[in-house]
Amino acid sequence: MLTILRRLVLEFSQEPELEQALRHLVNQIKHALSTDCCSIYLADYSNQHFVLMASDGLATNSLGHTVIGFSEGLVGLVGQREEPINIANAQNHPHFLHAPEVEEEELKAFLGTPIIHQRKVLGILTIQQKEARFFTENEEAFLVTLSAQLATAIANAEARGIIRHPQDSGWLKQLNGIPGAPGIAQSEILVSQPKADLRTISLEKVTDKAEQTRRFDQAIIKTRKDFEELALKISDKIADDSLDIFEVYKQLLDSSHLAEEINAKINFGWSAESALKQVVDTYVVQFEAIEDSYLRERASDIKDLGNRLLMNLQQPITVAKQFPDEFILLAEDVTAAMLAEYQHKGLKGIISLTGSNNSHAAILARAIGLPAIMGIERVPLAPLNQHLAILDGYSGELFIDPNDNLKREYQHLIAEEHALMDKVQQVKELPAITKDGKAIELHLNAGLSSGFEHSQHAGAMGIGLYRTEIPFMDRNCFPSEHEQTVLYQQVLSAFPNKPVIMRTLDVGGDKSLPYFPISEDNPFLGWRGIRITLDHPEIFLLQVRAMLKASLGKNNLEIMLPMISGITEVDDALRLINQAYYELSTELNLDEMVTLTRPRIGLMIEVPSTIFLLKELASRVDFFSVGSNDLTQYLLAVDRNNARVANLYDSYHPAVLRALHTISQESSKYLIPLSLCGELAGEPAGAILLLAMGYDKLSMNPHNIARIKWVIRHIDFQRAKVILSHALKLSTAKQVHDYLNEQLENLGLGGFIRAGI
Ligand code: PEP
Ligand code: MG
Repeated sequence: MLTILRRLVLEFSQEPELEQALRHLVNQIKHALSTDCCSIYLADYSNQHFVLMASDGLATNSLGHTVIGFSEGLVGLVGQREEPINIANAQNHPHFLHAPEVEEEELKAFLGTPIIHQRKVLGILTIQQKEARFFTENEEAFLVTLSAQLATAIANAEARGIIRHPQDSGWLKQLNGIPGAPGIAQSEILVSQPKADLRTISLEKVTDKAEQTRRFDQAIIKTRKDFEELALKISDKIADDSLDIFEVYKQLLDSSHLAEEINAKINFGWSAESALKQVVDTYVVQFEAIEDSYLRERASDIKDLGNRLLMNLQQPITVAKQFPDEFILLAEDVTAAMLAEYQHKGLKGIISLTGSNNSHAAILARAIGLPAIMGIERVPLAPLNQHLAILDGYSGELFIDPNDNLKREYQHLIAEEHALMDKVQQVKELPAITKDGKAIELHLNAGLSSGFEHSQHAGAMGIGLYRTEIPFMDRNCFPSEHEQTVLYQQVLSAFPNKPVIMRTLDVGGDKSLPYFPISEDNPFLGWRGIRITLDHPEIFLLQVRAMLKASLGKNNLEIMLPMISGITEVDDALRLINQAYYELSTELNLDEMVTLTRPRIGLMIEVPSTIFLLKELASRVDFFSVGSNDLTQYLLAVDRNNARVANLYDSYHPAVLRALHTISQESSKYLIPLSLCGELAGEPAGAILLLAMGYDKLSMNPHNIARIKWVIRHIDFQRAKVILSHALKLSTAKQVHDYLNEQLENLGLGGFIRAGI
């Protein structure tokens, strides 16, 4: 059964045209289950009905024409109930809807299963039989499993269909992702395809068969040469048997089967890339189904070989290409490094197929002030290159090849947004003080990218969070004490006489070091932040020494510990910091004018356990800073990076708001200074709530400082407190959002949370 299932899903996903794929599918299911009829209906939400798309058993004339309302007939019932319905004699069922054109008079038994993707019914799969009987449990289980697997394939196929016909007149297509950073961009798309990946290839037929064969032959020759060179290069470095893998690859390449099969597909009209993908996918499925574990493992070799061949087939789109004056970057996984590379070359916005609202790439996009959409899965990259797009970072909507009306509308919104930002810039250097006189400190989050954030003061009173990870990432080994000292000196000097909070190394989770790989099933719950540095005191001590040395003569350093979950970690870290401090004090031959000041030490409240340890923690350190990004992730048990659960990740969830409120009340009881440096601080609604909760200090990216100043300068503290007290009584995140959005609109601050003023 499993093999049949895999084959059906694979064959379905390999068909480029949805209609053809559906036709083939119903035919295959009908034979696999030996029934008299199999049909598939797809949902049309704009007309609130299902359309009979394919059937092997119902009248051919009805395909594409017969529609069944969402609340009509047995098909509608399956959709409404969102569960399988198994009926021995459908014709006697009260919901049976007689549609003469489908000619199903003889068909009695009926089994329908919904096809559901991300809670949305995409369609209904049915089987029918002349004999009046209930379908067996096995048949039902098969259909349910198949529907669940088909759901993603159908969603993908629909997305592919959307992208494939952009030249149709009056064409307007909209895709939805996760709003990653606010703002709007209207520009041409530039696709960055850093590595060849067969999974990203969408199938297409072409007319130039000879050219495709030539390209494929060239790719084989080039790939074989690559292997020979690679084997030669490393033959003196690794054992002989490890080189066998190159032999395996070469044999696969030489095997006439592989090339023959690919050439046969090319002759059938497929592009070389499509032919390669289909053949490799088929091999992979066959190998993955083999019992023998050694042979099963070969599936990954075949995938790898396929990707290498693809690399030699593809001309990387971005290489040697003139950058357009302005563009929106689209990539499978937009990284911080990409943003740094493209930032000054006309980058207007980003679209990342992976990641979520709190991935570090999204945080960085917000820091630079670039609109972004994250987690817009299921979109083939290449066909979108050079198409005009409108990216709405407030709503997460992406419009491809928009019509003139929509372009005009968004140009208007962009102009309004610019006007608002110009106004906002005027308060940049003014204090963050409410209309009724309550002042709050705004500080800067810096360090996420090498260089460009702390180079600007942005009207901040200091650095509230300097993430030290990046200088550790972009290298081949840990930076030396001297290298770190020089870098930290630059950061501390950028804010003379103002506090600079440097956080000790917080790698692990979604931030890894190329030279210190960590492979774990649950990286965010694993070896991360302080857990790593306490296990490696040599790394921790080196970093703290560098920070202390850098602070000589400046005395504005504060040190912060990430990912603290218990008291012992704090005690251990403090002991090491003291050790570094005393060793340095004696080691350095300081003249009387320069003293080594012991920095204030704080910790991040981002693991929920610390909320219940505030008293003990407050007696040990000088300040707390709430990391609301991680606190949200750990309180709600939602991976901040996973697009599939992005709708659950919400810092306005009542549990998070109440936790933040408790932290503030408890901290003031223990008289410990409290700040918040997560993304919530840089959001208008978040800043209002935190101000009302009593947070003394908010730390945010440079782009947000002026915006939040504007918000704070346009509200009364008393009004903020009323808003908070109401928000704390609400029981769902949606209620909180609706309420806060309404309040922002009433305050005339709606332009910060949606397009237009
Ligand atoms: C946080 O978790 O809120 C935080 C500020 O740190 P990071 O985003 O680097 O984990
Ligand atoms: Mg954190």
